[in-house]
Amino acid sequence: MRRIALLGATGSIGRQAIEIVSLHPELELCALMSGSSPLDELAAAHGVEHVQVGGDPVALLEACEPDMVLNAVVGFGGVRATLWALEHGVALALANKESLVAAGKLAIDAARRGGGLLLPVDSEHSALFQCLEGRSLDTIHSLVLTASGGPFRGRSAGELATVTVADALAHPTWRMGRKITVDSATLANKGLELIEAHWLFAVPYERIEVVVQPTSIVHGLVRLRDGAALAHVGYPDMRVPISFALAYPERPVTTIGPLDLAAGLTLEFEAPDLDAFPLLRLAREAGERGGTYPCAFNAANEVAVAAFLDGRLGFLEIADTVEQTLAQVDGSPARDLDELVAADATARRLAERRLVAV
Ligand code: NAD
Ligand code: MG
Repeated sequence: MRRIALLGATGSIGRQAIEIVSLHPELELCALMSGSSPLDELAAAHGVEHVQVGGDPVALLEACEPDMVLNAVVGFGGVRATLWALEHGVALALANKESLVAAGKLAIDAARRGGGLLLPVDSEHSALFQCLEGRSLDTIHSLVLTASGGPFRGRSAGELATVTVADALAHPTWRMGRKITVDSATLANKGLELIEAHWLFAVPYERIEVVVQPTSIVHGLVRLRDGAALAHVGYPDMRVPISFALAYPERPVTTIGPLDLAAGLTLEFEAPDLDAFPLLRLAREAGERGGTYPCAFNAANEVAVAAFLDGRLGFLEIADTVEQTLAQVDGSPARDLDELVAADATARRLAERRLVAV
C-alpha cells in the first residue's frame, strides 16, 4: 500500500490523480490540500483524515507521514512541499515545475541528502525519465523537449498584440489549469520545462533542445552518442504520466487505449519562433545565468500571467514584464529557503511596479 499526500487536489492534475488513485487498490490518499477551494466533500468521498486549505503544508505532511507526495500545486507556493519531501527522502511525484525552477540547486541538494525518489509528472520529463532509465549520462548526446506550440503557433509578434484571454486559453492539445495554459501560449511553459529538465537530469543547457511537434504525440526524445534517438510517444493525456509516477515502478493498466497507428499520425517538427515567443529565450538565458535568475523569471512570469488573466496586461507585455524584471534583479544565489523566498518577493515587487507603469 502506498499512502499519497495530494497537494493541489482540486486542480486539473489533482483531479486526474484522484481518478488514478481510485482505480488502484494499492494506492491510497492520506492527505489533501488545496489553495482556496473547500475539500470536505473530496475528503469524505475518499476517507481522508488530513485536510488543509491554504497555509504552510509542512505540518500537514508531518502529521500524515506519507509514502509519497504528489505536488500538484500551481506556482511558487509549491516550493515548501517540494523541499520538505526531498529533504526527508519521501518519494516526490512532481507536477509543480515552478518549485524546481525556482529552487533549483537547493532542491537537488536536498534530494541528494534525502535520497528519496524524484519522479517527474510533467509529461515531457516523464517521457525523458523513461528514455533515460538505466542509462549512464555519458552515453547521452542531448535531450529534446517537445512543445505543441500552443494556440498561437505560426503567428508573428505583430499578430499577437491583440489576442485575448479566451484566445490564449484555447489550447489545441491539452486541457489544463489557466496559468499553465497561458504559459503554453507564450512558450514560458517550455522555458520552465527547460530549466526543470536541467535540474532533473543534470544535463547542461546547451544539450537540451526545444522543438515544436504540434500534435503532442511525441513527448520527448533522448539522443544517444552513437547516433540513435529514443522517443516516447503516446496520446496527450496526463493520466499516463500521473499513473507512471504514483505507481512507480509498477506501470499498472490505465483507461487510456494503445496508440492507434493505422488511423494515421502526423509527426511534424519545427523550430520554435523565439522572436514571437521571447519567453523561451529569456528562460534559457535565466537558466544559463543561474543563481536566482530562474526564480526571478518564474516570479515575474507568475505576476504577469495573473495580470493578463485579470485583463490588466496585454499578451505581449507578459514577456516585457519578465525581461525588465530580469534586468533589474542581481540574481545572486540563494543559500537557503529564506533567501529564495526573498529573491522571489523582490522579483514580484519589481514586476508589480512595472504593471503599475503600464
Ligand atoms: P490548477 O490551477 O488546475 O490547480 C492548482 C491547484 O493548486 C488547485 O488545487 C489550487 O487550489 C492549488 N493551489 C494553488 N496555490 C496553492 C498553495 N499556495 N498551496 C496549496 N495549494 C495551492 O493547476 P494544474 O493545471 O493542475 O497545474 C498544477 C501544476 O502542475 C502546475 O505547476 C503545472 O505547471 C503542472 N502541470 C500541469 C499539467 C496539466 O495538464 N494540468 C501538465 C504538466 C504540469
Ligand atoms: Mg509539460
